[in-house]
Amino acid sequence: MKILVINSGSSSIKYQLIDMADESVMVSGLVERIGEEQGVMTHKAYPGTDREAVVKLEQPIPDHSVGLKLAIDLTSSGENAVCSLDEIKAVGHRVVAGGENFSAPVVVTPEMMEELKDTERLAPLHNPANLGGAREAMALFPGVPQVLVFDTAFHQTIPPHAFMYALPYEYYEEDHIRRYGAHGTSHKYVAGECARLMDKPLDELNVITIHMGNGASMAAVKDGKCVDTSMGLTPLEGLVMGTRSGDVDPAVHNYLAVNRGMDIATIDNVLHKESGLKGLCGMNDMRDIHAAIEKGDERAELALGVQTYRTRKYIGSYMAVLGRVDAVVFTAGIGENDSIVRRKTMEGLEPFGMKIDVQANDKRAKEPMLISTGDSPVAIWVIPTNEELAIARETRDIVNG
Ligand code: ADP
Repeated sequence: MKILVINSGSSSIKYQLIDMADESVMVSGLVERIGEEQGVMTHKAYPGTDREAVVKLEQPIPDHSVGLKLAIDLTSSGENAVCSLDEIKAVGHRVVAGGENFSAPVVVTPEMMEELKDTERLAPLHNPANLGGAREAMALFPGVPQVLVFDTAFHQTIPPHAFMYALPYEYYEEDHIRRYGAHGTSHKYVAGECARLMDKPLDELNVITIHMGNGASMAAVKDGKCVDTSMGLTPLEGLVMGTRSGDVDPAVHNYLAVNRGMDIATIDNVLHKESGLKGLCGMNDMRDIHAAIEKGDERAELALGVQTYRTRKYIGSYMAVLGRVDAVVFTAGIGENDSIVRRKTMEGLEPFGMKIDVQANDKRAKEPMLISTGDSPVAIWVIPTNEELAIARETRDIVNG
């Protein structure tokens, strides 16, 4: 069974074609700058193998439909074709927010698409684009099941005392304001991998998962089920991110409005796009921040300090939530690649049984790595996430019933 996985963003489409027989990636690609004067597309057949063939295109890509069509054409025709179109038996889509009504993957219908419009306000940066991709794919693949896999689904086991905000109760009843979380597909995937690597049944594993990329979130997983997460109603709450503030005093909105005369849309934009690492030091890529620190940039040092301190504070709170912690897992762009961030995050946690092995931590690998010392009561892992594979597995499972 061959499954196409699509992650449709506001101006980009990431896609993979996965052969579920051996879970190998037959095609991977990225379409960027959709709607701009010049679009860019990188398409790889058999990526990472000795058969790899790369196609790069620079041409106007006016909308997502054109981008997706290019991806499908390169996949199924021409000299780099890997299969015919009718071999693709299902398409899996990443959707950031499912709200309360969509707590598991679904084969989408046009009626559901209407219902899902309601979720767009929960993830305004992501959901309209995610659902738009699904709409395009429904038109391009008539009769092929389109499966939506929600980033919020893994978090639906969080109990009310953890997902409720202390706001007037009717805001929950009428407006569904509560914590939903995000990155659930990734947290679920690495928690599952951690159980496999530790040779422990997932439903007996207590693990703290840290997904740290441009966006960042954590999950407290008890007996294999998520019981708390750092993102909230939207993907703005929690950890310090590339350009997102994470936790701030909610009164900061009013303070900015009164003292700086900012309106609510401007404040919201600042918290999403001008804050986080970028707000603190002007840079949102951790590699640039390390380079600046090397040159003595104190703001860059401060940004790293704020980011790692916030994460450590969340680790502490999730230890209290879980009681017993078997493992801590780092994943995503920063979590997988940045040994300095990992070391600084875990600093001072030795008395709680979390001992990082500095040498193991400094190694780089594409494979999972155990980075705790042999006598550390809590295992500390770096586990590469694979959201595409996770989506493909969910898609297969639902299509196969
Ligand atoms: P996204 O949330 O966009 O999917 P990723 O998980 O791909 O993000 O992470 C992207 C971020 O990872 C970059 O902004 C950068 O800060 C960080 N990153 C990537 N590679 C490295 C590296 N080698 N060292 C440090 N940070 C890295």
